[in-house]
Amino acid sequence: MSVRSDIESRAACGVLTIDLKALVSNYDFLCRQTAPAKAAAVVKADAYGLGVAHVAPALYEAGCRDFFVAHFIEAVRLKPYLASDARILVLNGLMPGSEGDCADLGVVPVLNSLEQVANWSATAKARNTVLAAALQVDTGMSRLGLEPAEVDALLAEPERLGSIHVDIIMSHLACGDEPAHAANARQLARMGAVRSRFPDAKLSFANSAGIFLGEDYRGDLARPGIALYGGAPLAGAENPMHQVVRLEVGVVQTRTVPAGSEIGYGASFVAKSEMRLATIAAGYADGLPRHLSNTGAAWFGGVRLPIVGRVSMDSIILDITALEPGTLKIGDMVELIGPHQTLEMIAANAGTISYEILTSLGRRYERRYLSPAAR
Ligand SMILES: *Cc1c(COP(=O)(O)O)cnc(C)c1O
Repeated sequence: MSVRSDIESRAACGVLTIDLKALVSNYDFLCRQTAPAKAAAVVKADAYGLGVAHVAPALYEAGCRDFFVAHFIEAVRLKPYLASDARILVLNGLMPGSEGDCADLGVVPVLNSLEQVANWSATAKARNTVLAAALQVDTGMSRLGLEPAEVDALLAEPERLGSIHVDIIMSHLACGDEPAHAANARQLARMGAVRSRFPDAKLSFANSAGIFLGEDYRGDLARPGIALYGGAPLAGAENPMHQVVRLEVGVVQTRTVPAGSEIGYGASFVAKSEMRLATIAAGYADGLPRHLSNTGAAWFGGVRLPIVGRVSMDSIILDITALEPGTLKIGDMVELIGPHQTLEMIAANAGTISYEILTSLGRRYERRYLSPAAR
């Protein structure tokens, strides 16, 4: 449980429960799936919105020692929460000028360009030391990393890597969540070719999806993110992960409206007959996408309550006609994410992906952390 004052707890309009025991179970499962390779944890974007200050220490306790963030600022903020034998790696690499701070903190950059290689090498030389790095190669996503020709240039002039210890050679799958996509095998073949030229480095290739594409994709250090947090690693396949997040939102008002009533902004829904409605205390400012307007739902007591009208900034209107009158009362909590409506379901209803739902979860909910030991 998070330490929050009672008044904050009583005042909250919704409760976001983050089950660290489920998180750790997911990590253990991914480790077994990946073995004999190891599994790192991707904790960028505040651990996909779930709170890196809680998530990273729980994963460390579970044995994780490699933590990937996207930006250097995230490494700076994460550092105090981890023991010194944990390693933090920065996926997006370093902006020119931050190499010194990165070296001071003992953070390992992912080098994505010849310029980043040159800057890191110069930093190491200036300090008369050898600095570790991961080297990213672009095998077909056109996002980050050296192109194969740049790898050739690097290997033709090995002094470019002077004073750098390339501990990890890595790449990222563009279509890993679609196992049948031809791009996967293409990227794997390119990765294999590059990897053979860095025989001493560890290979890091698989994200959550990659772990489930088969042994060939696992390399030495997998980088799961979404699967840790309960998201489905593969699109359209059964989700083997435990749900980590539960979101419940309080009812602030109920009413009965006659046929013809216009509901919500823009009057986008008009009641065809008498309806009973409930207004709940969360909206798009709390990370419930406006795209759920007239299409998503909440759940109460196993009954689906469709969203009617547009999602507002701070509230959503539900059709509760299916419930017996008086069942749903002011202050009751309806489920937005939970056993009846998984993360994947709400994401699909919102026309987005689980990643975006998680990383958008608002700051106004009371956040309750279920400790890995308890329960
Ligand atoms: C975000 C990210 C991951 C984690 O991906 P998931 O699909 O969440 O498992 C791994 N590697 C890189 C380079 C990333 O950007």
